[in-house]
Amino acid sequence: MGRVIPPDPERSPRRAARAEAERLATAAVAVTPPVEPATRRRLRAESGAPSVRAPVGIRALLAVRGGTLTMRRRRAGLLVVALLIMATGAVAIGAAASAGGGEVAAQTATVDTAPAFQGPPAVPAEGLPVPQLAAVPATATPCDDPAVTAALASGDDAAVISAIGGGDAFREAVASGIAPCVSLSDPNREWVVVNKQRPLDPLDYRAGDLVMPQNVRALEESALRSAPASALTELVRAASDAGAGEIGFLSAFRSYSTQQSTYAGRVDVGGVEEADRESARAGYSEHQTGLAVDIVPCDGSCGTLDDIASSPQGAWVRDHAWEYGFITRYAEGRESVSGYLPEAWHQRYIGRELARAYHEGGYTTLEEFFGLPAAPTY
Ligand SMILES: [Zn+2]
Repeated sequence: MGRVIPPDPERSPRRAARAEAERLATAAVAVTPPVEPATRRRLRAESGAPSVRAPVGIRALLAVRGGTLTMRRRRAGLLVVALLIMATGAVAIGAAASAGGGEVAAQTATVDTAPAFQGPPAVPAEGLPVPQLAAVPATATPCDDPAVTAALASGDDAAVISAIGGGDAFREAVASGIAPCVSLSDPNREWVVVNKQRPLDPLDYRAGDLVMPQNVRALEESALRSAPASALTELVRAASDAGAGEIGFLSAFRSYSTQQSTYAGRVDVGGVEEADRESARAGYSEHQTGLAVDIVPCDGSCGTLDDIASSPQGAWVRDHAWEYGFITRYAEGRESVSGYLPEAWHQRYIGRELARAYHEGGYTTLEEFFGLPAAPTY
């Protein structure tokens, strides 16, 4: 352990820097290969130039001597400097990587004959320059934006999407992986993705703000989360106003235990393989999020789920559901990605901004929308 030397108030930063440069230069010479001083003396003799008094860099050194040096000698000088840089160890090499570093190297080349250093400080007063090897710009992430983090903390999904820049920007940020603060696994978010590879967490998750949609015919006592419930009310009204007829619904939220019964019933009818193409296992159903609803066409009485696809209501929903925040989650011909046979009746709420981006982007699965792997099987 060396003794502690108190700071010397007489030493100005500039003098301190100069001393540091001289110390480095001396240290560098100490590890210079034996061939180097001889080559240096020969070069100096050939050039006839006086000692370089105030070297300010490798270029300056070569320029002073270059007036009388041939190109071959210049190359020899460059070789010497290169050898010097290689020999001066990690500190000098690091310093040489920056502009100031060249001055240290040049000082090394003349230190044995140069008079006391009188030029400008070889290194900044604050110390040796830090090598700037590569300027790697930090990846911009919306998670650094206080507006985004505040919206996330408040639980306002629409505000989060707005803060990130809208549905397209949100999708892009999530799919590209630059928004780790946005979790597609959070069952409380309208953007949660549940499929055969992405169970609910916790498996028996139960949404907290379930309400019955107003002014919509419910064939079961089955609620939705408040945002999709309001949106469904608007959708049903709009369809009716457009002359598409009445839309009712069968099933919306299903608890973990209800889903167990639903799935078991399907297995009883068609076996596991068939059931898995049509019904989710408990803990893997969108219905457990309170964000999905199975709609039916009504005309006096209501039809079945299978009737929606070919009904005027189904046609209207295909064209307009996105305007109310819903998507057809299990589209025609996408079983290899979504894991399910097409279900024209199964409408999944993802919020208006995301549904707009989904619709306008021409997406047919939520997996592709968010850049997630296909989930054909468990
Ligand atoms: Zn469904």
